[in-house]
Amino acid sequence: MIGSEYPRYLTKTSKRFNPIELAEITRKIVCKTCSDGAEARKYTDFYVVWVYQGIATGYVVGCNLRCVFCWSDFSRDYPELYGEFYRPDEVAEKLRRLCVEEGVERARISGGEPTICLDHLVQVVEEVEHIPEIETFLLETNGILLGYDESYVKKLAQFKKLIVRVSLKAGTPEEFSRRTGALPEFHELQFRAIRNLLKHGITTYVAAVTDPRLVKPEERREIFRKTSEIDPVLAQILEEETIDPYETSLMRLEAAGIDLSQ
Ligand code: SF4
Repeated sequence: MIGSEYPRYLTKTSKRFNPIELAEITRKIVCKTCSDGAEARKYTDFYVVWVYQGIATGYVVGCNLRCVFCWSDFSRDYPELYGEFYRPDEVAEKLRRLCVEEGVERARISGGEPTICLDHLVQVVEEVEHIPEIETFLLETNGILLGYDESYVKKLAQFKKLIVRVSLKAGTPEEFSRRTGALPEFHELQFRAIRNLLKHGITTYVAAVTDPRLVKPEERREIFRKTSEIDPVLAQILEEETIDPYETSLMRLEAAGIDLSQ
């Protein structure tokens, strides 16, 4: 049963939350252990997206942040209402089939936060390691759990096909909290995730929302400075993201009282 306190999209009066606790609560809604020990997770869809030269994508339900610019559908805010459970082997097979049908060699999980159900994620990547039709598996993450618990990163370090993309949400704790709804002290975990990933030899790159309508030049500089402190090369190749006018993004920005035109 989901409590009335469960954070949905942000409003001007939303209470800030602990994203580690939110991950745990959300995990109970979107993941379940099967009788053979496999962990199933809720997905809303599977299809190929024509970014990264084409990538087979499974859209998971549930996240531990509430970014105001998030384009994900409302399964992020109401995970109990959306999606169907898929086992890791079913997910891997769906991704494989999409790769073959559309002639692409990359796969990923997107839409929500993949690390919330770590066992499921590990089991999917394990399956993918044995699928010749899939060359690369991209893990797109906000990094919060990978920064919080290094053992998560250790579990992922065994996979050769894995590439991780950490998406930074802000350059300061205050802006992180304003944009994601999480308490400001959790901002640092995004950067600690990058450190942990590099420490364990995982191919990693960094993206950050630097849209000038939302991010002031001094904050943008801080994002680059903090990334460069970890690894100057990562800062040089940092992927800058702008906010696309998806219906969900615009609705969330408006609900949070953020006007990009000002
Ligand atoms: S942008 Fe990513 S991290 Fe932020 S709420 Fe959406 S899915 Fe979660």
